[in-house]
Amino acid sequence: MDFSIPESVRPLLEKIERFIADVVMPAEHEVLEKGFRAADPLLEELRGKCKAAGLWGPQMPKDIGGLGLSLVEHGLVSERLGRSPLGHYVFGAQAPDAGNMEILHKFGTPAQKERWLGPLSRGEIRSCFSMTEPENPGSNPTLLSCTAVRDGDHYVIDGHKWFTSSADGAAFAIVMAVTNPDASPHARASMIIVPTDTPGFELARNIKIMGDPGEAWASHSEIWYRNVRVPVENRLGPENAGFMIAQERLGPGRIHHCMRWIGICERVFDTMCRRIATRKIDDEKTLATRQIAQAWVAEARAEIDAARLMVLNAAWTIEHKGFQNARDQVSLIKFFVANVMLQLVDKAIQMHGALGITSDTVLAHYYVHERGARIYDGPDEVHKMVVAKRILARYA
Ligand SMILES: Cc1cc2nc3c(=O)[nH]c(=O)nc-3n(C[C@H](O)[C@H](O)[C@H](O)COP(=O)(O)OP(=O)(O)OC[C@H]3O[C@@H](n4cnc5c(N)ncnc54)[C@H](O)[C@@H]3O)c2cc1C
Repeated sequence: MDFSIPESVRPLLEKIERFIADVVMPAEHEVLEKGFRAADPLLEELRGKCKAAGLWGPQMPKDIGGLGLSLVEHGLVSERLGRSPLGHYVFGAQAPDAGNMEILHKFGTPAQKERWLGPLSRGEIRSCFSMTEPENPGSNPTLLSCTAVRDGDHYVIDGHKWFTSSADGAAFAIVMAVTNPDASPHARASMIIVPTDTPGFELARNIKIMGDPGEAWASHSEIWYRNVRVPVENRLGPENAGFMIAQERLGPGRIHHCMRWIGICERVFDTMCRRIATRKIDDEKTLATRQIAQAWVAEARAEIDAARLMVLNAAWTIEHKGFQNARDQVSLIKFFVANVMLQLVDKAIQMHGALGITSDTVLAHYYVHERGARIYDGPDEVHKMVVAKRILARYA
């Protein structure tokens, strides 16, 4: 395996790095202070610049206007975009739209692609993915209560969801609902596209995350589906294939997330080192003279480098040997990288003292909004259990 940056993408990565540093980062403070709704004109301006620079949609296939990169290549891009909290959004590569585009591209009918995928890929609308329910364990999503019952050529959906990210202002939701309650657990549910203006779609609230309800794309909503009627043509893929499609979405999605987290690590590492190198703790000496700070810097460098190699290795395995052969690696990176990132954010805050918990640096934003990394797409404990079981089975 060769993990050097391929010559074919090196110029692209350099261009993206410059764009993030020169165009995106200077807008961060304004967007994060104003909120995503009020800052929409500025965000649209940035997206326009991104399109004009030929950088839009790095994860999308070329036939829908993207750059058509491979998984490893997009992983490298995702790391660079992750250096700013706005990076993925400005480039049209943000969750949950990126995952929704992927499954619409793979499983959508021509009519679904025209109505939903086209505008989504051009950044004209947004979407959300509605699976988790407050009453049931999201870590075992086969236990869903939301149902979609056939009534002639329609489905009637009833259910209660929460943590539907980015539902506020989205044009449609992809809803996971039980269509065959008598089937085996992984063959019970289907994915169904629900336009958010359908009667019975009720956004109850944006859930406060550590005090911040967020808004627009940067939000997580509680939603009621009450007697929501949508045509059968809105089903994505075959009936009862919801979990099969979800699996398609999660494999590459975890690589994208992990590389985004490594981008965050690099940003936080830079911020921490700059502070350590310049903060005087007496008349002459800076924090850099203290062994504890030196150890944190060295440990963080080793952990970020190890994390990056693990993720690239997993991406390479998916690309060359298929997802089934990369399952252990994907579980390992999911909890390992999330923890490397969150421990580093905490240490960087500590080295900044009181400044670290203010919004004058980007650290507090990461502390609040990235804590979920250890919970979504499979909590740490579930990934550890899955990998450990497979390893131990070889010893039994
Ligand atoms: C920021 C964020 C964004 C999200 N976005 C979306 C979204 O867009 N759409 C959507 O549908 N959902 C979304 N989710 C929901 C997410 O998928 C669930 O939170 C996740 O699956 C965990 O489910 P739960 O919260 O119900 O926790 P539970 O399933 O109740 O688990 C609680 C805890 O129990 C422990 N645990 C669980 N199972 C085991 C086990 N087998 N062994 C040992 N310990 C275990 C873990 O520590 C776990 O964190 C999001 C969540 C977050 C935090």
